[in-house]
Order: sequence, then structure tokens, then C-alpha cells
Amino acid sequence: MVQPRRVAVMGVTGSIGRQSLDVLRRSPQFELVAVSAGRRVEELVSVVREFRVPRVGVPDDVSATRVRDECGDAVEVVVGDEGLAELSADADVVVNAVVGFAGLPVTLATLLAGRRLALANKESLIAAAPLVEGVRSTPGAEIWPVDSEHCALHQCLVGSSPAPRHPDVERLWITASGGPFRGYDATQLDGVSRDEALRHPTWQMGPKITVDSSTLMNKGLEVLEASALFGVEVERIGVVVHPQSIVHSMVEYVDGSVLAQLSAPDMRLAIAYCLGAPERLDHHWGQLDFSSGFRLDFEPPDRVNFPALDLAYACARRGGAAPAWMSAANEVAVEAFLDGRLAWREIVPLVASTLESYDDSPLESVAHLRDEDARARAVAHGNLPQ
Ligand code: MG
Repeated sequence: MVQPRRVAVMGVTGSIGRQSLDVLRRSPQFELVAVSAGRRVEELVSVVREFRVPRVGVPDDVSATRVRDECGDAVEVVVGDEGLAELSADADVVVNAVVGFAGLPVTLATLLAGRRLALANKESLIAAAPLVEGVRSTPGAEIWPVDSEHCALHQCLVGSSPAPRHPDVERLWITASGGPFRGYDATQLDGVSRDEALRHPTWQMGPKITVDSSTLMNKGLEVLEASALFGVEVERIGVVVHPQSIVHSMVEYVDGSVLAQLSAPDMRLAIAYCLGAPERLDHHWGQLDFSSGFRLDFEPPDRVNFPALDLAYACARRGGAAPAWMSAANEVAVEAFLDGRLAWREIVPLVASTLESYDDSPLESVAHLRDEDARARAVAHGNLPQ
């Protein structure tokens, strides 16, 4: 029997938000008590109507007026980051599916309120790892990873001795599909287009993360995410290319045993795991058909043509605000690429050149992090081709 829970979904009109709604449609024990969206107000209104959601977060007054006009007085509308923080404190489980650094207020507010955070927003955890660590010990606060690799690691770490730093774990293995350009050489990569980068071979995802998958920056971010989530240093986190995206990640223990989590690629499985745990929901998302047979291949990543991976490891070792700078510069670069202002091959070099302006400093506060984030973005914008 799965416990009834009050659920909030932040970033409800994005890919993970919509898939969270799919899980909720099949799970009547959960009540959707709050939603937010940064854009697509029309879609937000239809969600509010379908699920009779009492509280809604929007980024500005114009959107707030539109929601009030469409939904009437019964719906409470809150505006901006403070509004999001207020909504996060009001649910038993908060799905943070906001895209990019903008997800930070939701992450911090949910943990500070002692709630379960179902985290799909890796950027906030990566940029703010030391700050998030500080609020994780709030009684009741829990982080459950929606990211498929981390959800897999979470499942494979059951039974591991957690603290400090999982001493019975030899290595965490994060799998990577390799993205649409797996096996491409330097010449082929010079000519790749926006449409090709947005064509992921195995996962249907939003545009930002799909581009990050094509550069392997997503995998680099996931190494940092795993280190922050599980308290395992990046030296004990490996990346292996697995084109079928069936093994979502693996834990290698010191006795030589490797535990893996397998399913067909379907994010709803990870979302349902985070909402229902410790119970499992009987939705069978991602169910595999072993009777038809299939292959599982593994190969090392191409670190020369996909330098984002080693850049991420270097930022992790540097610590402080370096991961925040990397993530912020990458957001600027990906946006410029999606707008046609930057070639695919220039994305990671732009991130690397932006990091040259970073002076090491330990992260002290959210205000300090916001300053560093703004500086990184300003430098990255300055480095864009004119
Ligand atoms: Mg992932």
C-alpha cells in the first residue's frame, strides 16, 4: 500500500513535468497541491483545471494575471522565487523539474522545509553543492534523484554502508548513451547542425539536456551530481558508454560485485520511484521483454572529441564556485547554439575559456553563489562570437 502524499511539481510544462503528470494520472493516492511554470501559461492553466490544483507559481505579474483570469479566485497565484519557495514548503514531495540554475530556490526551500525533494534539476545541486549539503541535514529533508543514472545508483546502493563516503564501494559507473554523435570524428563533428544535436537516439528530453547529451556535458554534470548526492569523490566515479540505454548505471563493490539497474528508457519509472518510495508503484514503466532478446554493449567514452567530460572532472577537483561557473557558462553556450549564434564545436571551448576568468573562492552563501553565477554568465556572453 503506497502512502498518500501531497505532491508539488515545479516546472510542470517541461518534459519531466509532463511525465510527472502522467505518473500522477495513474496514481490516485497522490494529490497535486501546487504547480509552477516559467512559460507556456496556457498549458499551465489546463493542468490547473485538470488536476484542480489550488496553488500556482509563475515568474511575473503578467502571467499571474492571466492565470487568475482563466482559473478564478479559488486558485492562489504566487510570483517569483519567493513564491516558489513558499509552494515548495507546502507539499510532502516536491518534484523539481525547473530547467537550469533557476531551480535553486526550489531545491533549497524544499530541503529547508524538511520535505522530500524529487530532484530532476541537476544544475542547482551541482552549482550549490556545499550550500545544499548544509540544509540536507534538516529533519525530514531527503533528496531522491529523478535523473535516471542517479536513480539507478540510488537503487543499487541499497544495502551499501552509506557513511562516510560508501567505503564498500569501489566505483560508481555512470552509463552514457553517447548521444547522437557517438563515433563521430573531428571532421564530422565540425559540420553537425542544431537539428542533428536535438535528435537523441534513445531518450525523449527537453532541448537543453538533449544538447548537453550530444556534447557529453550532461555526463560531466552527472559525475558532479553523483559526487554531491552520494558523497563519493569524483576519482571513484567512472563513465562508460552504453548505446542501448538499458543499464542506467552500476555500482561496483570492493568485493568485485557489480549491481546494475535495467529498464527500457522511460523517465516515468524514475519519477514513480521517487514519489512512491519506499513502496514501488505497479505501473510497469520501462518493462523489458527478455523473451525477445537484446544486446548490451559497453565502450569507453571518446575524451578527445568530447572534452566536456574531462572539463567537468577538473571543475570538480577545483571545487568552490568552479562547477557553478561551468554550469552557468554551459547554459549560455547552449542557448547561443540553439539560437544559431554558436557552432556545436564551439560550445565546450566557450565554457573552458569562460572558466579561465574564474578566481578560486570557496562558496560562502546563496548571495555569493548568485554573484558568481552572474559573473560567469557575463564573461560567457562576452566570449560569444560577435
Ligand atoms: Mg541523466
